[in-house]
Amino acid sequence: MNIAVLIKQVPRTDKIKIDKEKGTLIRKGVESILNPYCEYALEAALSIKKQLKNAKITVITMGPPSAKAVIERAIALGADDGVVLSDRAFAGSDCRATAYALACGIKKACGTPAIILCGRQAIDGDTAQVPGETAQMLGIPMIPYITEIVDISEKSITVKSEFDNKELTLSADFPVLLTVRKGSNNRRMPSLNDAFRAFSYEPKIISADDAGCDKEKLGLSGSPTRVVKIVPVAAKGNCRFFNSGNCAEGFKEIGKVLEKVVSSN
Ligand code: FAD
Repeated sequence: MNIAVLIKQVPRTDKIKIDKEKGTLIRKGVESILNPYCEYALEAALSIKKQLKNAKITVITMGPPSAKAVIERAIALGADDGVVLSDRAFAGSDCRATAYALACGIKKACGTPAIILCGRQAIDGDTAQVPGETAQMLGIPMIPYITEIVDISEKSITVKSEFDNKELTLSADFPVLLTVRKGSNNRRMPSLNDAFRAFSYEPKIISADDAGCDKEKLGLSGSPTRVVKIVPVAAKGNCRFFNSGNCAEGFKEIGKVLEKVVSSN
């Protein structure tokens, strides 16, 4: 059984500063890491592999050649194989173009995998749109925000998924794409064997042509999204917590505060 895990290299967002004049992120000198939610997705893949012994995990990333660092990290954590989709044609891609490139890359690297795992979101772009768009382009179902794998067989999977403050138990036949929340997953330390393997591991680099992409659908020209302006939002005002332990009382207190705000304007 083939399992593909989509992993993204992201800057450490807690270290990023904003250029207030240009309204852009200052990425220079900021350490790049494997997106933490992608690490939870990999952890879920490793737990599936433990249960279904014939599973093979391929990690796939789209990014500049330096993104191979996250493949090496994933190999050190126990992935079997890794692929970097890298080409100038991918530069400037929005979520849809990224999903298109990933869908082509998945087909090239592992055909139709039984399971595709993604993080619930990337901590830099934060849109959480890439997994759904990738599933749509591959024509397969998606279950988002999973917290637990309840049951798995050679043909289907049952998971717990949490969204809109509800917990659902959902099943899907393969192929399926799942996005992973932290849930019960813990980030593991690399084993000594896997760390040695990662040290000398050379991931495959796949270009847009290798992946069979239509270049019209990539990069800025293939991206319908336009970033018109980025405005850093300064935190202002105080935060007050109402801990009355009783909703009706709490709403009354909030009402009083709102009345004051309205009457002072
Ligand atoms: P999410 O949808 O939040 O990610 C969820 C999950 O999808 C991840 O956990 C991971 O499993 C998977 N995933 C997402 N991205 C990747 C990836 N690249 N590889 C593997 N798996 C992935 N970014 C640039 O770096 N350079 C640019 O020039 C650039 N130009 C852009 C231009 C426009 C107009 C727009 C709108 C965006 C641009 N971006 C650019 C941002 C880029 O589109 C996003 O980084 C990308 O689409 C991923 O979206 P996200 O970070 O919101 O991921």
